[in-house]
Amino acid sequence: MKSEEKYDYLIVGSGLFGATFAHEMTKAGKKCLVLDKRDHAGGNIHCKKIEDINVHWYGAHIFHTNDKFLWDYVNQFAEFNRYTNSPIANYKGELYNLPFNMNTFYSLWGTKTPKEAKEEIARQIKHLNIGEPQNLEEQALKLVGTDIYEKLIKHYTEKQWGKKATELPAFIIKRLPVRFTYDNNYFNDKYQGIPIGGYNKIIDGLLDGCEVRLNTDFFEDRTKWLSLAEKIVYTGKIDAYFDYRFGELEYRSLRYELEVHDTENYQGNAVMNFTDAETPYTRVYEHKHFEFGTQPKTVTTKEYPVKDAQNAEPYYPVNDEKNMHTLKKYQDLASKEEKVIFGGRLAEYRYYDMHQVIASALLKSKNELKNE
Ligand code: FAD
Ligand code: UDP
Repeated sequence: MKSEEKYDYLIVGSGLFGATFAHEMTKAGKKCLVLDKRDHAGGNIHCKKIEDINVHWYGAHIFHTNDKFLWDYVNQFAEFNRYTNSPIANYKGELYNLPFNMNTFYSLWGTKTPKEAKEEIARQIKHLNIGEPQNLEEQALKLVGTDIYEKLIKHYTEKQWGKKATELPAFIIKRLPVRFTYDNNYFNDKYQGIPIGGYNKIIDGLLDGCEVRLNTDFFEDRTKWLSLAEKIVYTGKIDAYFDYRFGELEYRSLRYELEVHDTENYQGNAVMNFTDAETPYTRVYEHKHFEFGTQPKTVTTKEYPVKDAQNAEPYYPVNDEKNMHTLKKYQDLASKEEKVIFGGRLAEYRYYDMHQVIASALLKSKNELKNE
């Protein structure tokens, strides 16, 4: 460390990336300072306790991974329950199981065997002659046919992303399993669950022993913060770091409406997706079901898409061609910043799940220690 530098690492953002990086470096004897502009740590996995229920403040978060190492890593900080995500799709009052599986196919078409279901899908798309799917619509049609596309995908997706399904990349829909078994588990991963007591336990465990300053925006005194540490870990928006010089990257945003109900059980499931075009919200979460709660009241969150996303919380990167082209220019600049490590959903502009963010932070911290 040079004389004016007080920290080995200044970490901008206390989300899973920043907190994991800080944890690994603190463990290795480095001095870290973590900043966050919000009034709490944890980024988007933050939970607030309401009516004794852990409310996922920035939308439902279900931890899932195939990687035993990552599963053991998070289990150091909290015990996980056996929650399995099985959302229900509500299309104009008709209910269907998600992800798309034999239960969904039976409800729609009365098909009872995988062979019958596959034949029905093939019959629906035969005339479309889809080759290698070029966008989300083609990908969805190819996977599940026209009925499911119309009832459960098209309107939900267009409402959620504020774009035509033909303008969205195919990979978004490939996140969802399509199964020819009667299995309503939304994820294929070996390990899945919710930390008992909420996600804050994980963040608190990761940040234990680190100095954290909340309500502190890096950009309000960038020069000061840069001078304080030998290296910077930046987990905010990459375009913001470079003063938007190549223009703004696009994000999809959400707005949440919380309700407390004076009833024990409101919708009977943690997640319900509203897949029609008319219902203005996309999902309703009932938080107690993530932890099998038996509290006398219940808390729900309605998730609404936000139209003017550029002035709202940047939740999801829009990884289409135009944005990826702009991203490349920012990445070229980032690669020249020797003092700065860019990481996480916003700085890497990637649709990362939690386990992937942790994996990325572990890899980058390991490389740092190796290169010393
Ligand atoms: P973030 O959590 O966004 O943290 C970044 C932090 O940096 C924030 O706290 C922010 O305030 C701070 N920051 C930014 N700029 C500045 C600045 N200038 N100065 C100071 N601080 C700054 N993943 C799953 O695995 N399962 C799920 O079910 C799941 N559901 C999701 C649902 C929703 C609605 C969303 C949006 C995401 C979901 N994810 C899920 C993804 C998960 O939230 C992310 O992978 C993970 O939280 C990203 O961590 P991060 O540290 O990269 O970013
Ligand atoms: N999707 C859909 N209908 C659903 C659920 C998901 O069409 O009922 C599509 C939609 O395009 C969405 C994508 O699948 O953006 C990925 O869904 P996922 O649940 O992984 O989205 P996330 O939880 O990240 O918002």
